[in-house]
Amino acid sequence: MENITLAIIKPDAVAAGNAGKIIDRILQTGFKIRASRIIHLTRGQAEDFYAVHRERPFYDELTTFMSSAPAMPLVLEKSGAVEEFRKLMGATDPAEAEKGTIRKDFAKNKGENAVHGSDSDENAQKEVAFFFAQSDILGNF
Ligand code: GDP
Repeated sequence: MENITLAIIKPDAVAAGNAGKIIDRILQTGFKIRASRIIHLTRGQAEDFYAVHRERPFYDELTTFMSSAPAMPLVLEKSGAVEEFRKLMGATDPAEAEKGTIRKDFAKNKGENAVHGSDSDENAQKEVAFFFAQSDILGNF
C-alpha cells in the first residue's frame, strides 16, 4: 500500500465550494482517485479519527470543526503517495505553506486548513480503512 494515501477535503473547503478546484489540482499533480465519498462526520467519528491528537490543546477545536459540516475523504494513488500528497498539501499553517500548495491557496488558518493527508504508509492504511471498505476501492494494491 505504499502508493496509497488518504486525503480529506475538510469542511471549510467543501463549504467554500473549493472541492472541485482541489480535486482538479490533485489530478493535475498526477494522482489517481481510487475512492471518494462525502460524509458529515459525527463528533464521535471525528474524535476517533484524530485520537492520536487527544492530548493536544487544539483537539476540541479540531474535532468540533471536523464534525461541523460535510467533508470528502479520497483514496489517492501515486508513487510515493504519502510524501507526494504532503508536498502538494503544504505546511499545517497556510501562512507557512509554500506557493503552489493546496493550503497556501485554499486554507483559512492553521485549524481550518482545507485538507488532510496521511503522514505515513502505516497511518494511510488505517485511515483508508476508517472511511472505506476494501470493496469501495478501485484496483488492487
Ligand atoms: P497536519 O499533518 O499538517 O494536518 O498537522 P497535524 O497532524 O499537526 O495536526 C492535525 C490537524 O490539527 C491540522 O491539520 C489542523 O487542522 C489541526 N491543528 C494543528 N495545529 C493546530 C492549532 O494550533 N490550532 C488548531 N485549531 N488546530 C490545529
